[in-house]
Amino acid sequence: MEAYRREDILRLIREEDVQFIRMQFTDLFGQLKNVAVTASQIQRALDGEIMLDGSSIQGSVRVEESDQYLKPDPNTFAILPWRPQYGKVARMICSVHNPDGSPFDGDPRNVLKRELKAVKDMGLTLNVGPELEFFLFLTDEDGNPSTRTADKAGYFDLGPLDHGESTRREVTLALEKMGIAVEASHHEAAAGQHEIDLKYADALTAADNIMTLKLAVKTLAQKNGLHATFMPKPLRDAAGNGMHINFSLFQNGRNVFYDENDPEKLSLLARQFIAGLLEHAQGFCALANPLVNSYKRMVAGYEAPCCLTWSSANRSALIRIPVPRGQGTRVELRSPDPACNPYLTLAACLAAGLDGIRRELAPPPEIAGNLYNMPPEELAARQIRNLPASLEDALRAMEEDPVVMKALGPYAVRYLEGKRQEWEEYKKQISQWELDQYLVAW
Ligand code: GLU
Ligand code: MG
Repeated sequence: MEAYRREDILRLIREEDVQFIRMQFTDLFGQLKNVAVTASQIQRALDGEIMLDGSSIQGSVRVEESDQYLKPDPNTFAILPWRPQYGKVARMICSVHNPDGSPFDGDPRNVLKRELKAVKDMGLTLNVGPELEFFLFLTDEDGNPSTRTADKAGYFDLGPLDHGESTRREVTLALEKMGIAVEASHHEAAAGQHEIDLKYADALTAADNIMTLKLAVKTLAQKNGLHATFMPKPLRDAAGNGMHINFSLFQNGRNVFYDENDPEKLSLLARQFIAGLLEHAQGFCALANPLVNSYKRMVAGYEAPCCLTWSSANRSALIRIPVPRGQGTRVELRSPDPACNPYLTLAACLAAGLDGIRRELAPPPEIAGNLYNMPPEELAARQIRNLPASLEDALRAMEEDPVVMKALGPYAVRYLEGKRQEWEEYKKQISQWELDQYLVAW
């Protein structure tokens, strides 16, 4: 992304007839928020003087300490292509600050920035390439979302079977206009399911881009009369939505996950990073898979991981090493889903990887076979651990993982609190499945 100075932004606002600036940020639970200011307020906005009532944001501050400030990152200035092209709307992504000017600990973007400082101090840059999956569903006559689709297409199919190609095209063009490079987009395995892959970027930009991609998909789908959902598992008998994250570490422009002398061309650093991810995968699961529904995706048979293993090729593993080497060498983490807060998830994954590097952990041997078909005795004999089976288990694992808790900082407890409430609410529900199974039989 270009580096904008204050005068560039003022000029763009004038030349492009921008009338509104959306000051955006993300709450602890991953919801994008914004306040629109008129162009006349741009100086105040750039000076970080736009305020919000933090006590109205989920997981944020209490009423007695509610005034907070939005400090925009000028490099994120972009015109929203889907808004009117006269009296245009631009956005800037902001960090939330306390009245004394210090960064607010409960702002996920600040959490990621803090963790990125650790990697920078090691002379490294973390690059992240996300792949987001989602469904496009029909809406009913009142415009409400359904889980129906008229699309009958599967993996890599095209029109007329594929009913989402126009939406994918519009999203891709909109993102490119905003300076976000899209690498590929395609129909996914399930009917009505799609994927958009972003070109790798530094971790902070990647997290910003994920939030923008989700907004673009939802907005443009709605314009086309469709409902887009990143819900991890909307349909019982179809694949769920994953958000695979490709990680690589660079030093002075060189990919340090690559080692040409290693038989598998993977560096020691890459192996330590993998070991760190495996070590903390249970601990960061409540972040990467934040919903009750997330755990319904991670079951055998749909290319989503259940076990803590790594492999060069196998898509049932938690971590896969895609074929490219050299500058393209990367570690693909397959557990996250697109409902996660990308800032917190990346911060926790980075802390996990760095812990692997600092403690010089070695990953277990890689497992090439299909884990979905492996009998439980064999999994046990090979000491293969599982991902948590529910949000409740994941929250416990997070609380017991000091590395993840430290990466999140003081607001980790608010996250746990909010998510535990969600679990308690869910626990009280009686599902259709229970009624079908038990109402007559018992
Ligand atoms: N949809 C699968 C998941 O839930 C992933 C499919 C793929 O390999 O792209 O993670
Ligand atoms: Mg996919």
